Amino acid sequence: MRPHRLGSTGSLGYTRAREKMVQEEVIGRGIRDPRVIEAMLKVPRHLFLPEGLLGQAYGDTALPIGDGQTITQPYMVAFLCEALALGGTEKILEVGTGSGYQAAVLACLADRVFSVERIRSLLEKARKNLDRVHCHNVMTKLSDGGYGWKEEAPFDAILVTAGAPSIPRPLVDQLKVGGIMLIPLGERKAQRLTRIRRTSHGFSREELMECNFVSLVGEHGWVQREKPSFD
Ligand code: SAH
Repeated sequence: MRPHRLGSTGSLGYTRAREKMVQEEVIGRGIRDPRVIEAMLKVPRHLFLPEGLLGQAYGDTALPIGDGQTITQPYMVAFLCEALALGGTEKILEVGTGSGYQAAVLACLADRVFSVERIRSLLEKARKNLDRVHCHNVMTKLSDGGYGWKEEAPFDAILVTAGAPSIPRPLVDQLKVGGIMLIPLGERKAQRLTRIRRTSHGFSREELMECNFVSLVGEHGWVQREKPSFD
């Protein structure tokens, strides 16, 4: 990946750099939910990054976290949270723990977060990151998140932070009536962020924006590649 200087904290310090990022990239780009804004101000994104990337923590870009995976861009994290319309009492399933950052932001906005990751080394790092910022309402598990987390279902909201070719059936089955699921659907390199609502009659579906997440791998996603691809 090409190094870039955008968002470099320079002499600002992390707290100031985070405030600036939230002002410009979150509020400036139309996020209005005050609870989401507060959570984005609160969670120290730099504590979820590999050491060499600390200086880029408050730029509005996805960044590599190892194993070919990425931490999501801050604006997208805020957008996803706002689109879930959380009130604070929800039980949430996240598929794709990655660095743990999205889970930490969700933890400020909901009651409990259950997050599933398929790569052991990432999950171990994420757990350390989450403990370090005292996110005790985030439960994590190593498994194929396409199957959800059956023992904890049903969920008020489900957030899939990896792109899938189609909707994994076990996930919609684990969504409460009245619940919302967000999932990037489409090709490996380009998806549409899709919002699914479970109603008493079935499901409604709406496309929110174009997006580009890493692939959901496994039985309900894409076939795993031999090596991570960076092209
Ligand atoms: N939410 C993360 C970003 C995750 S990137 C963050 O805030 O940092 C997507 C993650 O989904 C990757 O870590 C990848 O390993 C994971 N993933 C892909 N397929 C998965 C599956 N079937 N089950 C669980 N995790 C999966």
